Amino acid sequence: GMPAPPVPVLAPRRPTRKIKVGTVDVGGDAPISVQSMTTTLTSDVNSTLQQIAELTAAGCDIVRVACPSQDDADALPDIARKSQIPVIADIHFQPKYVYAAIDAGCAAVRVNPGNIRQFDDQVGAIAKAAKDAGVSIRIGVNAGSLDKRLMEKYGRATPEALVESAVWEASLFEEHDFHDFKISVKHNDPVIMVQAYEMLSERGDWPLHLGVTEAGPAFQGTIKSATAFGALLSRGIGDTIRVSLSAPPVEEVKVGLQILQSLNLRERKLEIVSCPSCGRAQVDVYTLAEQVTAGLEGLEVPLRVAVMGCVVNGPGEAREADLGVASGNGKGQIFVKGEVIKTVPESKIVETLIEEALRIAEGMEAV
Ligand code: SF4
Repeated sequence: GMPAPPVPVLAPRRPTRKIKVGTVDVGGDAPISVQSMTTTLTSDVNSTLQQIAELTAAGCDIVRVACPSQDDADALPDIARKSQIPVIADIHFQPKYVYAAIDAGCAAVRVNPGNIRQFDDQVGAIAKAAKDAGVSIRIGVNAGSLDKRLMEKYGRATPEALVESAVWEASLFEEHDFHDFKISVKHNDPVIMVQAYEMLSERGDWPLHLGVTEAGPAFQGTIKSATAFGALLSRGIGDTIRVSLSAPPVEEVKVGLQILQSLNLRERKLEIVSCPSCGRAQVDVYTLAEQVTAGLEGLEVPLRVAVMGCVVNGPGEAREADLGVASGNGKGQIFVKGEVIKTVPESKIVETLIEEALRIAEGMEAV
């Protein structure tokens, strides 16, 4: 058959060096990965593994767990062994937990060498232990925990301050010839965050982990993250992303995947194209779209389903989609690949769409 047309993207990916986070490559030509972080007590191994399983099912590529205490460090070997996706241990200050995470089989550690050096300079030893074990590191510069020296110099967490901190932190590893790290420069303001990543991307080929920190509750956080990540990813900047929401972490993964899919940086899966409804609607579009979305949840094939409220724009959109309905007069015209295959009463629209979607999906999987 005809080769599929190339999928357009907004910009070529900026070249970065590739590192390994366990089985997942980050940077270079590796697909942009989606991360999240567990909210359970890490020391509660069962709950943490349960949440990691949910995240994995939602499409999460890499998971991070906090490690603030010895009990958490003790739980890491079980978690790292039983998790289906690479585990990153998130550590502040305590070098002993860094070694514990490396020994536990964690794929990576998030730790800032600047913090480590402040108390007891073990940066060289950490770099060696990580390199010997094939463990990578994320340097996570955060507006909220910026170096005192930089706060004094810049007055606040400006993009320049975040970048200066990141470049300095990177140099602490590089002087020990350790290069298997990625960097984040997070801020809760998308504008400052975008400027910081843009500047940082000019300073080196480090793979970049994108994040808007403290983005807020689901609605605000989703928009802040989509706006900021969109600005960067559309210029080819960003190798792995984490959406931070004050919401269950599975929601973070869904948002992250949707951002990548919207930019053609991931294959689009199920996409519901539904009209906003208006005074012409002859059917309750919201309920219809919701019921179709719920009925098709988890369908893992690229399928565009159009749910349209009337016969004005309805047939046009429904024709463009793989499958669609245009409602009117208490009936629904069901379209498959642009052809009306049947007309059903309103009460049968949802079940007919779901039936047809599953049939098309089966055909796709068979190919
Ligand atoms: Fe209004 Fe019809 Fe367009 Fe839906 S498809 S927004 S009901 S004109």
